[in-house]
Amino acid sequence: MRSYKKGGGGGYPKNFFFRSAAAPPSLALGCGVCDNRKQLEGDVSGTQTQTKSWTGNEIRETFLRFFEGKGHRRVRSSSLVPHGDPTLLFTNAGMNQFKDVFLGLEKRDYDKATTAQKCVRAGGKHNDLENVGFTKRHHTFFEMLGNFSFGDYFKEKAIPYAWELITSPEWFAIPKDKLYVTVFGGAEVAPGTTLGVDEDARKFWLAQNVPAERVVAVPGLKENFWAMGDTGPCGPCSEIHYDMGPTASEQGHADCKFPCDCGRYVEIWNLVFMQFNRDASGKLTPLPKPCVDTGMGLERVAAVLQGVVSNYDTDLFQPLIQEAISLTGADPIIAAIDYSQEAASLRVIADHSRAATFLISDGVFPSNEGRGYVLRKIIRRAIRHGRLLGAKKPFLSEMVRPVRDLMQKAYPDLVQTTPQVMEVIRAEETRFLRTLEVGSRKLEEALVQSAISSYRQHRTVIQRRAPGEGTLQTIDDALSNLQQSKIIEVVKLIAVLIRKHLNQGIVIPGAQLFQLYDTYGLPTDYISDVVRDAGFVFDETEFNKALEEQRARARASWKGGAGKEAANPAYAKIADQFTTEPDFYFATSAKDTCIEAIVTKNGAVKELKAGESGEVVLDRTVIYAESGGQMTDTGAFYDPSGAQVVAEVSGAYYPVARLVAHRVTAKDTLRVGDRVSVEADAERRARIMRNHSGTHLVHAALRNILGTHVKQAGSLNAPDRLRFDFSHFAHVDAEELRDIEQQVNDEIRYNCQIETAVTSLEEALASGALAFFGDKYPESNVRVVTMPDPRSPRGFYSKELCGGTHVHRVGDIGVLKIVSEQSVAAGVRRIEAVTGIGALEHYQQRAQLLSQIASKLNVGEDAVLATVEKLSETAKHLEKELEAQKRKGALGQLEDLTAQVQIVKGVKVIAAEVANVDRAGLRQLVDSLRQKLGSGVVALGMPDDGKVALIAGVTKDLTAKVHAGKLIQALAKLVGGSGGGRPDLAEAGGKDTAALKSALQAIPSLIEPWL
Ligand SMILES: [Zn+2]
Ligand SMILES: [Zn+2]
Repeated sequence: MRSYKKGGGGGYPKNFFFRSAAAPPSLALGCGVCDNRKQLEGDVSGTQTQTKSWTGNEIRETFLRFFEGKGHRRVRSSSLVPHGDPTLLFTNAGMNQFKDVFLGLEKRDYDKATTAQKCVRAGGKHNDLENVGFTKRHHTFFEMLGNFSFGDYFKEKAIPYAWELITSPEWFAIPKDKLYVTVFGGAEVAPGTTLGVDEDARKFWLAQNVPAERVVAVPGLKENFWAMGDTGPCGPCSEIHYDMGPTASEQGHADCKFPCDCGRYVEIWNLVFMQFNRDASGKLTPLPKPCVDTGMGLERVAAVLQGVVSNYDTDLFQPLIQEAISLTGADPIIAAIDYSQEAASLRVIADHSRAATFLISDGVFPSNEGRGYVLRKIIRRAIRHGRLLGAKKPFLSEMVRPVRDLMQKAYPDLVQTTPQVMEVIRAEETRFLRTLEVGSRKLEEALVQSAISSYRQHRTVIQRRAPGEGTLQTIDDALSNLQQSKIIEVVKLIAVLIRKHLNQGIVIPGAQLFQLYDTYGLPTDYISDVVRDAGFVFDETEFNKALEEQRARARASWKGGAGKEAANPAYAKIADQFTTEPDFYFATSAKDTCIEAIVTKNGAVKELKAGESGEVVLDRTVIYAESGGQMTDTGAFYDPSGAQVVAEVSGAYYPVARLVAHRVTAKDTLRVGDRVSVEADAERRARIMRNHSGTHLVHAALRNILGTHVKQAGSLNAPDRLRFDFSHFAHVDAEELRDIEQQVNDEIRYNCQIETAVTSLEEALASGALAFFGDKYPESNVRVVTMPDPRSPRGFYSKELCGGTHVHRVGDIGVLKIVSEQSVAAGVRRIEAVTGIGALEHYQQRAQLLSQIASKLNVGEDAVLATVEKLSETAKHLEKELEAQKRKGALGQLEDLTAQVQIVKGVKVIAAEVANVDRAGLRQLVDSLRQKLGSGVVALGMPDDGKVALIAGVTKDLTAKVHAGKLIQALAKLVGGSGGGRPDLAEAGGKDTAALKSALQAIPSLIEPWL
């Protein structure tokens, strides 16, 4: 097995967690029963011991139940793909989905919430992927338990809640003598503004009977002060730490005191108190309604409650590690030694299989940019570690099932997505294995090139320094007669020779190796191992530089790829006062609407002059703002009389929830407070609506015909076409496409009236409505679009959560025609279709094309196919005949050419111009001539399509004197071209056909000096 070398610094402390006897590694916890809680009652002293074994699943559920009992709404985890937040690569904290609520941009019908949030930290500033697996608490995927108060309670309740949950014998019953808490210890929070110790928080902790010496004020901004950004909500934090005992110290501390960051004291819960608003000048103003945001790492608290030091020893990971052992064939005895590289590889696989499963389940697919690139790195890193453990076959896809088994109770979505997730990972594994093959070959080529050029450069020096060096002859011989199978041996020989006589290694440029890493996905340590094994020097600094540049590009690409910039900050204030009432569901024109705000890049302004561009917020609009895959409307504002256009509207969007910003160019001065009429382009809208309703039909038909694994992965409803991306692993064949089209058009002809209703999210999902889980839906007031069908047992053909506009009756679509089906990413297919007028145009274009072809062929339209078949037969026949002619021509010339042999210093030379052969024929001719001569030099040239083709062949006995490559280079110069090749065979091309004759005539004089 190859040894694992960890790149870069950092590391793995020497005494890194041997398992202590006190923390047994086996976690046969099974399904914990809550019966033993009674035993604990009455024992509320600070020295109680935990007797209950909590499973990870129980901990998560208990947390949520605790806060539900305190009046919190249990809110489902949001997607790992943050919705509408382009500043974030992945959801990385419980508060992400509530960001707009904290900012006051969005109101919910509850003011207290609790969640178990899926999070991923990888590829960003928070987490260096390379650490994961080599520490006890680094993860790419983890779960954050949290409770949130949106202006309801503050420190006075957040602190007692936290203390009760973790210490009460009714709940987690963590011994109080193992706990420490911190409060904010004061710092300069903005230039000139200094905050003191958070005495409030300290007071509330003391009120819980936490001993004063265990409430530690930590000064400074880094540890205990939180801010959403440079401006906005901010405030002090309070953290709860758990003492894991001296065995957890990574620095071998036997009796260090809190706070020491040696690994003994572990932060398990962070309570954030959003107390202030910070403005652009840095000034802090107390928030009228302060908020609470807390985060407890499930994996950490599981380690605490299960009495183990490492998160990876909890029941959230152990079943995965056991599965990885059996899938990879790792040695279980070595794997049980925590500091072994095998154990690290297993932790990597356990962690990464969770991340990959959840990311793909949430709609991320492996790709070369943005989120997909991070996912690809995670998958490939896991595969690499699997191979280190001895896995020969794809194994990672098999890890998805145990991840599902562990997590499906909390994340029921996994049950449905597992087959597809497995397919995606399997495809990525297959691709990666292929990559390794191709990449290894390329790497070998790079080594050979460097070795040969280095050898040529230093040969004379070596010969001078060591005249008796016999290796030189061996290498010369080998290079003049290279056999593919021997090449690596020769390369190693060169490396040894250069090290021996020049006292230096051959350096492979790091940038070149990075290319291999980047283009072929060869892992860094694989590359460095191969390079070092061959006796070369791996230029790590330059490699890392190239890597850093590439990372910066990757970061830039996902920001750009999000396609949406963070909203102009002016909208936060506007959203406080206004919302836009949507009238676009009912009409395409509205009279007497009011301009509430005008925003330009300078922020909110009072007016927009004629000719200026900006964004306008109305109290009410019929312009559909781009969302849910439906393109925005275009249109115009009119003066109240409706006679005069006062602004052209090129589109609209939602800068924040429930506020529509129109992108306008003013034709007349627009002022805040003006009243205008709004018109959307009705024809364009009608086309979009037909396509949007068509999309719902296609979605339903795909699920009926291909299966319910089909999930929407994106859609676009434009005026000219609809596009629907969906998860499906195979190509959709022509027959399936025809079935889909037929079913959709049958539904269209059935012509039911489309129904829309507004209900709660839970109710909508319970009724069978499809939701696109990459999207964020409110808990209540979700819109459900139903296409009824009394023929179906469910009573409907399609039911989806959708905020878009639809036709009145399904029949209004007219007809739907699928125009293409293709792959857009691994496991994602794309269908494009046209409807209504668009479909008519499509049919008309096709009919016209057919009529044009028929008239070109001079036959009737019905005879087109037969005629084309006949033509293609004839063409094939003619091609064959032509090839035969050429071959005959080449062989016919053989005798002629042999007769043209000349003798130069005793060597037979043929230099001639040929005709009527292709390049393959030319090569064949040279071979035949070489054979005929037995020993000699052959150079042939021919005009080829206005250019010159040249080829030179030298029999093996002469290559030491006449190098075909050198000969061809000299010839190429004469015809204004370039070329090269092996010592025995080389080719060139040139532009100057007129010079071909004289070039061929020059051959004897070119060769003569070499003989
Ligand atoms: Zn310590
Ligand atoms: Zn829709």
